[in-house]
Amino acid sequence: METGLVFNLQKYSVHDGPGIRTTVFLKGCPLSCAWCHNPESQSAQPELTFSERRCFGCGECRPACSLGAAGPTQGPLPPQVEGCTTCGQCVDACPTKARQIVGRRWSVAEVLAEVVKDGIFYDESAGGVTFSGGEPLTQPAFLKELLVACRSRGLRTAVDTCGFAGTQVLLEVARLTDLVLFDLKLMDDAKHRQYTGVSNVPILANLLALSQLHDHLWLRVPLIPGINDDEANLAAVARFAASLPGVRQVSVLPYHKFGVDKSRRLGLESSLAGLEPPSPAQVQRVVEQFRAGGLNAKAGA
Ligand code: SF4
Ligand code: SF4
Repeated sequence: METGLVFNLQKYSVHDGPGIRTTVFLKGCPLSCAWCHNPESQSAQPELTFSERRCFGCGECRPACSLGAAGPTQGPLPPQVEGCTTCGQCVDACPTKARQIVGRRWSVAEVLAEVVKDGIFYDESAGGVTFSGGEPLTQPAFLKELLVACRSRGLRTAVDTCGFAGTQVLLEVARLTDLVLFDLKLMDDAKHRQYTGVSNVPILANLLALSQLHDHLWLRVPLIPGINDDEANLAAVARFAASLPGVRQVSVLPYHKFGVDKSRRLGLESSLAGLEPPSPAQVQRVVEQFRAGGLNAKAGA
């Protein structure tokens, strides 16, 4: 049985596909989007996070860490300890959960045992299970086994992908799921490289191939002020989306600032720390623009 690195399992989710869902977040992503709202998802390894707000300075964490002796002998450990092995000793010692390890290995059976508990909610709402991330296609064997296991239990599934993966892997996964949520961020390749770290050429080619195979695709367009909300990008997104068979819905997802605080907890600085979300009116204007292009667009997931 496959195992995989999971960093969150979110119940009663209503933002990752139809109905009430459980969203399983797999850790590891080939992109590093500047606006990422789950920066803890990017590394394919477990990570230590530290919440300054929760720490009241008791210093219980320091003696718990075999590396703590390298610094002062009293007081809290620094948020990030050089050479940290993510052993979790300081996490266990911390009375306020200010220190936490993000990401642990789950077996397919463990995930399935958790997601089937909410079967009644899926049935009543036409919901199901969504595999998101990070990028779930970075763990293809685990993901495929999860999808087969869900299907064998009669659970509807969705896969939420950035599309940066081998085409064969993507299409194999698509054959095993009822719905694909596919992110479409920037149509200009140079800008895509600048803000996500990778080219959009394989992503767009994958979306084209996917749309010829699968007839239940939802596109997700994050709206990031000053980065992808210009007329040229929005018009190009609308044109491309409208040319694809299989696209049932386009969701316009306004930028929010949750990722800024999460980055801080990982000891990282967000390059968009000062950026404000778009107003509801701006989001609605984009929705209307997409609708005018013949798309079934909506604000939010
Ligand atoms: S996770 Fe382990 S190695 Fe890392 S800081 Fe905590 S106790 Fe030290
Ligand atoms: S044990 Fe927790 S609350 Fe106490 S100093 Fe360490 S991180 Fe802060």
